[in-house]
Amino acid sequence: MNETQGQYFYHPLENIEEVDVFYEAVEREHLTKAISEERPYTYWTIEYYDQENGIRGGGGLGVLAGDTRRIAEKIGVPLVLVTPFYPSELHQKYKDGKIINEHRNVDYHDFGFRFIDKVNIKCGENISQLDVIEKKFKNTRILAITEPNFGELYSGASGSDHRLYQEVALGFGGYTALKLVGLKPAIIQLNEVATFFSALARLDELVRNGMDFYEAVVYTRKHTLYTNHTLVQAAEAEFSYEQFERYVFPNLKSLAVKKWISDKFSEGKIKLSSVTIEIAELRSGVSKLHSRVANYKDIAGNRVKFKAITNGIDLERWVMPEIMDFYLEADILTPDYFPAPNYLEQIDELTADIIRIYKAKGREVLNEILEHYPDQNGKILKFSENDFIFDFRRRLVDYKRPDLPFRDSMRLRNILEKHDAHYILAGRVHTGDNEMSEKLNRILETISKDEYLSTHVHYLPDYDEELAYGLSVGSNSAINIPIVGLEACGTSWMKDVANFNILISTHDGGVADGSINAYLNVSGADEDEELNMLYQRMEEAMMIWESDFDLEYVIKQELATFLPIISGSRMLKDYLDYLFPM
Ligand SMILES: *Cc1c(COP(=O)(O)O)cnc(C)c1O
Repeated sequence: MNETQGQYFYHPLENIEEVDVFYEAVEREHLTKAISEERPYTYWTIEYYDQENGIRGGGGLGVLAGDTRRIAEKIGVPLVLVTPFYPSELHQKYKDGKIINEHRNVDYHDFGFRFIDKVNIKCGENISQLDVIEKKFKNTRILAITEPNFGELYSGASGSDHRLYQEVALGFGGYTALKLVGLKPAIIQLNEVATFFSALARLDELVRNGMDFYEAVVYTRKHTLYTNHTLVQAAEAEFSYEQFERYVFPNLKSLAVKKWISDKFSEGKIKLSSVTIEIAELRSGVSKLHSRVANYKDIAGNRVKFKAITNGIDLERWVMPEIMDFYLEADILTPDYFPAPNYLEQIDELTADIIRIYKAKGREVLNEILEHYPDQNGKILKFSENDFIFDFRRRLVDYKRPDLPFRDSMRLRNILEKHDAHYILAGRVHTGDNEMSEKLNRILETISKDEYLSTHVHYLPDYDEELAYGLSVGSNSAINIPIVGLEACGTSWMKDVANFNILISTHDGGVADGSINAYLNVSGADEDEELNMLYQRMEEAMMIWESDFDLEYVIKQELATFLPIISGSRMLKDYLDYLFPM
């Protein structure tokens, strides 16, 4: 508590739910207006993965944001995506047993952004001047803020001053940017808590413009959706009151809002999730399982409920165009990329011949892409149509278990040898994750010591969007083995299923939205049992590939189960149904 607080004129807002009931009547009448060009759906994200537009993300969170904007464009939803444009991006190389980080500068002028104006953000004694830039695409646009010292995505520790600065800049700067282009948000979707300050900026503006404080809180809550991607609140970094005094409070105009947020500190610390829960009445998780198990408490100590809206992907972005044409012509997908009404029957059009033709085409695409992605030895890989390829490609983090398949390297070798198959491991290690770097080194050492493995297991360090695409169209079987309960959704596996790959997976994240029999499931009472089953599944996958009958059966089964889940159009529709119920 700080001593100047007594002078603020405010009413403590202890029980926000009561206020809720009070304003409900008012609510119904004037608050929820449908989205329009002037009142768009606004989507806020600290991470946006869209290399075509010069913004490189870190993983699934950013890919989802990129897909959401594209889907909105496709199905005609007015959407503004607000995000930082990072002037520097991280690439990784592997050299002499070490991961080497490479920082490349990026200029927004090279990507078709238009400069709009500058906005000021206060940081303690200083003022940071941000460029507001925009790029329009039909009914959607990217509105970005940036400045030369903005830094990289996720640079610094998660509770650091620099992160807080980036988050405050996105929230307050982005909110001002929205005003600059003459827009009011119909809804604020917070893609994780790093975007909290946009909702705070809105609350501040409403109060500043004369709305009663309680009404402003209710209004903001009714129009803010918090999308959670993380399982445990405990893992989240905290900020201190002192950090807020420097970065947050100077950007607030209303004393009541300042007081409101001050009251949310506990022992001088705050977790953004706790205030995000307070400011967003609408809350969603990214798969059924995740929404059930995400363990979050509000300030009163009550468990928070999350509405399950499983992630989907923009099929146009991730599916090989030839396969996309097939889905459309066979009436499996509608022109808006929803599963067609009779998609289950139509999937029967698929034959092993078709699958093999498209996988051969995908292999050519993969080979072209691989020309720009040297392996751990600096070698360019090229595969024949007949090579069987397993791939494990994702951020290299512990819970996804990139090391699991290498625990019994002799067995892995025997499996690959039987069919002369290849195994591609692609993924970046998070800066500072020394444990994972060491694990990776051990994997690579194991590989290099074995003559066979060294020619059949390949590590590709600079994993990104293009490589993700190449591997989903060009490999045969994808391995997705997070520790059950720890994957929020995952979207890599969706790209694999949509491109006719045989999916080997644990029953976790979005995969667990479907039946356990819909794919090659890996499970077991402990990790040894899981590993044993993983190896069995790998052998099975290679056998399935050799049999037309089995291949057709397995791919149809995957599509029948997962196509409605994978469809990003379905995802956006689920969000709209949740936000604007009839
Ligand atoms: C699809 C994609 C992801 C998502 O990965 P998951 O591990 O499935 O969450 C991450 N990074 C890139 C580059 C992707 O294309």
